[in-house]
Amino acid sequence: MEDNFRHKGLRNKLVEELKEKGIKDANVLDAIMKIPRHAFLDSAFITHAYEDKAFPIGAGQTISQPYTVAKQSELLEIKKNDKVLEIGTGSGYQAAVLHAMGANVFSIERHRILHLQTKALFEALKINCKLFFGDGYEGLPTYSPFDKIIITAAAPEIPEKLKSQLKIGGIIVVPVNYNEDTQLMTTVRKLSDNEFKTEEHGSFKFVPMLNNKEW
Ligand code: SAH
Repeated sequence: MEDNFRHKGLRNKLVEELKEKGIKDANVLDAIMKIPRHAFLDSAFITHAYEDKAFPIGAGQTISQPYTVAKQSELLEIKKNDKVLEIGTGSGYQAAVLHAMGANVFSIERHRILHLQTKALFEALKINCKLFFGDGYEGLPTYSPFDKIIITAAAPEIPEKLKSQLKIGGIIVVPVNYNEDTQLMTTVRKLSDNEFKTEEHGSFKFVPMLNNKEW
């Protein structure tokens, strides 16, 4: 995969645009500068890789818009070696950004084709994240608890199983359905086994998080 001066120049511009849109975390901006987003897109969209837009990645799914990836990454308050669970691997771009920020990433995808595609890409790019094929609503009990959990699909509510797989002091970042085509970005901080502090951070647009019966 070629990553040339032109790509780096475009990434630099994207980082400036994200700063103007309010992203402050230097660790997030450095990771966006590092990850070649064009490697995560279908070659038909490659010339658009550094526009702040979402694009189709197959199986009716999308790679999130860079601003959304940056915002969710910032809200996660990533510290080096944080154990992070992602629901919705998709193209792998969000997972790659979190990995570049120093997180130990576990990510689940329910579309086998996307899971396999991203697994192959990560091997080629030597990105060391643990990718799983399965239902994100179940989380990963064997690997829990996690420091942070990120859901990258529109959730009807915050799944209880995921709340129980979060460490005390940990954060879940999740776009929760507000109406038919809008989600409110929500952070849930676990204060104790049964106390959670919820905050909202503006509206976003995601593909739906589907449960077993809807597959
Ligand atoms: N993080 C991705 C965004 C992909 S879009 C990226 O950076 O490209 C959201 C993804 O969530 C889709 O690939 C969709 O198939 C997946 N998804 C939806 N419901 C899911 C579930 N219950 N478990 C796991 N993945 C799910």
